[in-house]
Parts: sequence; C-alpha cells; structure tokens
Amino acid sequence: MADIVVYACHCPDCRLGTDHDDRQLHEQMNLLCSRLDEQQRRWFAALESKKVGHGGDTLLALIVGLHVDTIRRGREELDANLVDRPADRIRKPGAGRPPLKKKTRRSSRP
Ligand SMILES: [Zn+2]
Repeated sequence: MADIVVYACHCPDCRLGTDHDDRQLHEQMNLLCSRLDEQQRRWFAALESKKVGHGGDTLLALIVGLHVDTIRRGREELDANLVDRPADRIRKPGAGRPPLKKKTRRSSRP
C-alpha cells in the first residue's frame, strides 16, 4: 500500500505558487484530511464550508479536493445532527475505502 498522500490545495491563491495568508492553513487542512477517514473528511470540509458561507462548498472543493456534492452532503449530515451516522467509528456496510496500513515499509531501491 502506498504512503499517505497529502492533497495539494487548488485554490486560486495557492495555484499561483506565491505566498499568501492562507497557504499554511490550506496545507494543514489537507494534512489533517489525510489522517481522517472518508466521512470525517466530509464533515470537516462541510464545517469549514459553513464558516465561509456563500460559495463555501466550491472553495472547499478546491482546497481539499472533495466534490461539491460531497461537501453539501456533509453539511446536510451535520445539520441533521449526524443522526444516521454511527458514533462508534463502525462504517456503514460497504462504505468507504479499505483502511490504510499504519506504517509503510520503505521499499528498497533498485
Ligand atoms: Zn489554497
């Protein structure tokens, strides 16, 4: 299994490659996302989107790389108090991708 890949922000400011106020924040948001499972990522992005307000889903989609519909669904789940989501970290059957290995062994170079 591959190492955990941290998504690179695609917001307009970060894409310019220059320093800007939110660059580190965006990098850390993606760092955090890389350690969350699928639904936790969705809710985190949804919460950040709510902070942004209008246009938040689109902005967060650029920052963390989730689809806008996924973030909207996360907002709806938060608004419904996560009633349909298990609180004990047990996934719904068939949901999400298989867990990543805790530690990846360094591959020997040829
Ligand atoms: Zn950014």
